[in-house]
Amino acid sequence: MIKIKTTEDVRKMQKAGSIVADVLCMIEEYIKPGLSTWDLDQAAEKLIRKSGAVPSFKGYGNPPFPGSVCASIDHEVVHGIPSKNRIIEEGMLVSIDVGAYIDGFHGDAARTFAVGQVSQDKLDLLRVTEECFWKGLELARPGNRLGDLSAAVQKHAEDHGYGVVRELTGHGIGRDLHEDPDLPNYGRAGHGIRLEAGMVLAMEPMINLGTRRIALEADGWTIVTADGKPSSHYENTFAITEDGPLILTKRD
Ligand code: MG
Repeated sequence: MIKIKTTEDVRKMQKAGSIVADVLCMIEEYIKPGLSTWDLDQAAEKLIRKSGAVPSFKGYGNPPFPGSVCASIDHEVVHGIPSKNRIIEEGMLVSIDVGAYIDGFHGDAARTFAVGQVSQDKLDLLRVTEECFWKGLELARPGNRLGDLSAAVQKHAEDHGYGVVRELTGHGIGRDLHEDPDLPNYGRAGHGIRLEAGMVLAMEPMINLGTRRIALEADGWTIVTADGKPSSHYENTFAITEDGPLILTKRD
């Protein structure tokens, strides 16, 4: 069941979203070779709590996710567990996914950062993944169908020869971190539910340089590409309004 948000709900979600955006901005400045993904996690958790929010991901799921953020490097697609043993190096792609919960609502967004000098292959992947998000977002208005967004994301990625992860999707978001509907990064235009003002969605293209196939690591969380090639991830939470999409995971 899709939960339609009131104007007041959306206002609260803007607060959660702005904290998520602050954390991603902080990480962008802070990230550098020599830090561990645990260092990033600690800095993120500190800022989330200082802002009066709670990290949405900590303790989520089964096994309970141990971190405040997901930190996924290179061939790791999403859900990487922050670790003191994962040291960031020049040339890596590091994806950081952040969730914050405050006033009864969640915000959720992810960015993939290029650390220092990064190969052109990786930079192109990063750019196109971000473009996929904006191609989908353009269509996020009342009357359009969910499949319109999915198809736009898929087309842009596959036009560049990239693999689109299918097993994991974007999602509705609100009082729960994951609400209906699922928002796949592949699909058919003209299909799926009709979008309405008051729906709030997190769209999150997960795009692979090589095959779309993925595997789950033994830690029960980390998703990796089956061929070991790099992957990129970009996500924002947004509300559908009569005037079009309103991104909630942006700074005040
Ligand atoms: Mg999400």
